[in-house]
Amino acid sequence: MCPLCERLAAPDPFRLATFDHCVVILGDNQGCPGWCTLVLRRHVEHLDELGHDQQQAIFGEVARVARAVRACFPASGAGGGPVRINYECLGNVVGHVHWHVVPRHADDPTPKATVWGWTPEALRGTMTRDERVALAGRLGASLTRP
Ligand SMILES: [Zn+2]
Repeated sequence: MCPLCERLAAPDPFRLATFDHCVVILGDNQGCPGWCTLVLRRHVEHLDELGHDQQQAIFGEVARVARAVRACFPASGAGGGPVRINYECLGNVVGHVHWHVVPRHADDPTPKATVWGWTPEALRGTMTRDERVALAGRLGASLTRP
């Protein structure tokens, strides 16, 4: 069974929103606070298997998550919000279309590189469960605001 299909089928305290195409989850890795993952609601392995309209709609959902992340971190970067947001649709580990929305904050240790060279501990970050729950509440509220 696909681990993302399994995750979508189970109750998840870190599910932030359910959009038309994707479910938004606060990522297990919070080394970059606010890291969210959008998981396509149905099992499709490759983005290019989807129709053009679906691809566009999914990217609209990805951008909507990025806006919510910026709203939740208004003071991280010089211009407000994360200095940069990385968007990644990889599928190398789990072959089910999903997007990582990775805010790169002003204190990012490697701002010119992707996060995938970080140690597992650095990726996971130091946020406590209570802090993750609080952040999920703020992001969820921001995502469902019209
Ligand atoms: Zn799947």
